Amino acid sequence: MYSANFDYHRAKSLSDAQRLLASNPGAKLLAGGHSLIPLMKLRLASPSAVVDIGRIPELRGISKSGDGIRIGSLTTHAEIAASADVQKSAAALAEAAGLVGDPAVRSRGTIGGNVAHADPASDLPTVLVALDAKIVAIGPKGERTISADGFFTGIMSTTLADDEVITAIVVPALAKEQGSAYVKFSHPASRYAVIGVAASVTSSGGTCSAARVALGGLVPHATRANAVEKALVGGGLDTTAIGTAAAKVGTDLGNEVTGDIFASAEYRTAVAPVYVKRAIAAAAARAGLA
Ligand SMILES: Cc1cc2nc3c(=O)[nH]c(=O)nc-3n(C[C@H](O)[C@H](O)[C@H](O)COP(=O)(O)OP(=O)(O)OC[C@H]3O[C@@H](n4cnc5c(N)ncnc54)[C@H](O)[C@@H]3O)c2cc1C
Repeated sequence: MYSANFDYHRAKSLSDAQRLLASNPGAKLLAGGHSLIPLMKLRLASPSAVVDIGRIPELRGISKSGDGIRIGSLTTHAEIAASADVQKSAAALAEAAGLVGDPAVRSRGTIGGNVAHADPASDLPTVLVALDAKIVAIGPKGERTISADGFFTGIMSTTLADDEVITAIVVPALAKEQGSAYVKFSHPASRYAVIGVAASVTSSGGTCSAARVALGGLVPHATRANAVEKALVGGGLDTTAIGTAAAKVGTDLGNEVTGDIFASAEYRTAVAPVYVKRAIAAAAARAGLA
């Protein structure tokens, strides 16, 4: 299918992108195009104009800062998966980026586009919630930093305003004995997450002192598994303890579980604890707890 007609503008810089957004009401930003273009071709989105930010150097790249790792919004999934810094400091994110779609999608798709699009079956939102990442965006009122935990509000909806541009994602530095992991049950055709679970656990003298577990694929937006987290903190993390905590995911899921032609809500609910268990066990091993 062909998209509806639209005006095309290529932004030369971040300020140029902001100017073009302001002067073209109803315009959409275009990064890697792997979510926006399919939507436009299916006529699920028909913006009057597209502002292409794909060649703005200042939005690309990974750097270490005092508070963690800063990933420019235009950084591709392939670049994140291959980054030694991300592998070391945010293993779950490198893992998730390496599991996105296929090589073509990973080479074009960007972290900024992925989080702005907020597909419930995307991988990166789940990981960013578990890692307590921050999303940095700039708009007419200036720059703001949004916690990933509060950024995703529903199916393909976020707190980002139409005139804001995501400039970077900041992932906090790892604590000394902290480990993270991401596991997913992939859709066999698209590789999107039918179930995606990210876990981050911190050890203190052999005891789990902090835990963040986030769920994706089976709920409308990336969400923390509070009951699972609560069950983890304060104890050791042997197989039994992890299994007991993972079983609490039913409480966290409530009755908002997604069901579709590929996997019913009942099936997703039944299988979720297995993936929760795997993510925690992998994170715990990296934290030196298991
Ligand atoms: C076949 C296929 C398989 C896929 N499989 C997976 C998968 O397994 N897991 C997964 O997570 N994803 C998957 N994806 C999605 C892929 O990761 C996309 O690349 C990503 O979701 C969107 O990134 P993009 O750079 O292509 O964004 P675009 O398509 O260019 O933009 C997407 C949306 O984000 C907005 N946007 C883009 N950049 C910014 C910015 N800097 N600031 C504000 N808004 C912005 C756009 O206006 C648009 O609304 C798949 C896609 C395809 C086509």
